Formats: sequence, C-alpha cells, structure tokens
Amino acid sequence: MTDPRPVPPGLQPYWTGSVQDFATVPPLDLEEGLKERHRLYSMLLAAIVASQFNGNKHGEAGDYGSWRKDQLISGTPDGVRLYRGGTYLGHNIAALAVDAAGRVIDYDFNHNNVFNSSVEHAESRLIRRLFSLAELPDAAPVLPRAGPVMPMFQLAVSAAPSAATGEPIAYTAGASPGLRRKGYSTLLTDVTIYTSLESCAQCSGIMALADLREVVYLQYDQGQYLIGNMMYRATAGPTPMIGRNDFRAPLPVPGDTFGSDLYDGLNLAFRQFVGLVAGEPFYKDGAFVDKGHSVTSFLCTDSALSVFAAAGRQLEQTETASIPAYQRPTRDGRILPSALSNADLLQHLKGFLDYARRQGGRGTAHRV
Ligand SMILES: [Zn+2]
Repeated sequence: MTDPRPVPPGLQPYWTGSVQDFATVPPLDLEEGLKERHRLYSMLLAAIVASQFNGNKHGEAGDYGSWRKDQLISGTPDGVRLYRGGTYLGHNIAALAVDAAGRVIDYDFNHNNVFNSSVEHAESRLIRRLFSLAELPDAAPVLPRAGPVMPMFQLAVSAAPSAATGEPIAYTAGASPGLRRKGYSTLLTDVTIYTSLESCAQCSGIMALADLREVVYLQYDQGQYLIGNMMYRATAGPTPMIGRNDFRAPLPVPGDTFGSDLYDGLNLAFRQFVGLVAGEPFYKDGAFVDKGHSVTSFLCTDSALSVFAAAGRQLEQTETASIPAYQRPTRDGRILPSALSNADLLQHLKGFLDYARRQGGRGTAHRV
C-alpha cells in the first residue's frame, strides 16, 4: 500500500466544496480612479485591434456572407468576392502590457497562422518578449521631441508629454521598479496584462510563472472553462502557502468590473453570432462551408470590428480624465515618483495609439 497523495495546499479550502465556489473570484472592489485606468487601457487595446484588424480567416476570397459585408473590397465578374486585410497572420486577439508606473511597455497579437501553430497566443508571446526587454541596459536613449517611439524604447521613454509640464515623460528602466533588473521570478510582479479575449490555460500558466499582477480581459471565452479564475483561487486562497518556490496567478479582472462597454458589446455580439451562424454560414467557398461558432470566426466579423473601433474612437474623443490626479500604488503600496496620473496616462495612451497606428505592425516583431 503506497502513501495516498496529499491534497495540494492551494486546493485544500475547495477540496470538498463546489466547483462554482472554486471557479468564482469574489467581487472586486476597485477604486474609481483604477476603474478609469482600466477603461482607458481597454480602449487603447481595442483601438489597436481595430487598427490591425484582418478578418480573412479563410483567405481574402470567397463568401463571408453578411458577416463581413463592410470589409468587402469588390466582387469580380465571376462572382468571387474579395475582402480587405490581405494575408491572415493570426486571430484578432491582442494583449498589451503595462508597467508599474502605468506606461504601456508593448503589445502583441495572436500569430498562430504566421507560425502554423496553435500556441502563438498574444499574451504568451508578449510575456516572453517582456523578459527579453527587461534585459535591455538601464541607460535611456535620447528621445527626439517629436520623433516616433519604438517599442524597443518603450521600457525607457514615452513620447507623450506630461500634462503638468508639457515635457516628454522620460524615464529609465531603472526608475521603473516593475521592470528593474532583478530575479526573473519577480521581474514582472507589478506588470498588468490587458487582453482582448480571456486567457487560455497556456497563457494563464505563463502569466502565473511570470508573477504578473493581474490580467484584464475584454471578452470572456467559455472554451477556457474559467482556468484563470481557478488558478487564481488555487494560488491566492485563504490558506497561506505562498512560499519561495510557489507561484501566484494574476488576479483576473473582467471588463464588467470597471464599466467597460467593450465587455457587454463583445459578449453580446458573440452570442448573436453563435445563434445565427448555423443558418448563415461564416464562410462558403465551393463545397467548403464553415458554420462553426468559433470565437476566432466571430472576431473576423463586422460586428466585432465595430465594437473595437467604437472604443478606439472613444479614446480619441476623451479630452480629460474623470479622476485626473489618481496614481496607482504598486503591489506593495508605494506610489512611484514616475507613476503616471490618470491625466498623464490619457496623453500617454493617445501617443501610444498614434505610434501603433503609424508604425506598429502586427505580423512583425514591431521593431523589438
Ligand atoms: Zn492563450
């Protein structure tokens, strides 16, 4: 008779309870200033998705029916329809990372098709890149006042002028404790990831290993069975078991906890897609007909694009922050000298969006 395996400590509080309890994160009580920040970053992320949008999941020719009529370039005399976007590089799922001071470090997209792989997800690609960025030297490059900002330097410089002084907000990696060179297990401990779609098991795992602060998502994904919630509960439960070698999963923050229009907009539009796609196929080309209700097909549709684009316009039209002086403390409760206020953040995000639209490709490593 062998020894029975003990229950892992993180699961002990839930072991004989309900799955519902284990998979449910207690209600979040976010400060109004933090809610505004989450909304602003979410708008930026949505704007980036809209700017790099490509709905050609099954190619640029064929018939996507009513789902992509706004993306139609033309019909040819032989009845072939062509859609804008060119070669499909990956799904319309993006993630961006924000450092301890509130600055956007970088973003990435799903690149499954570029690599012919099912694991090239936005969040995992982004986090792997953050570790390599963190190895950049601390010396900050000189920022041309009106020049473009490249993500390689996002760690160190921001093009957005400070609302207070009008000067570019310059900082060094050394002044940004969330990314200061230190042990890799805690390097990203104050980093927040914003992702347009709730994370899968792979990305939730990578985020837990990276000790990220939280993961904010704009749309839920029922296909991932609340894995992010369960990992959070297992690693942040009431049993104190976080030790030197234990990891903790990031706090999952769905869009409805901070009043983002994106969350309801995307979830509702996806449910409508699921309800209709059996009768109105997503795609037809000869004998090939796709009636599946994949979320990645939904993310090619006009309705998904319109939700992302509307949020992007909302960011552009936001002139002032509602809670301009709010600064977010780090995980250990400090306000960094370099911390952006919400007023500064709004300008920073507009500057980043301008960069992303002009130079930040989607199928490249965008100059990192
Ligand atoms: Zn993933």
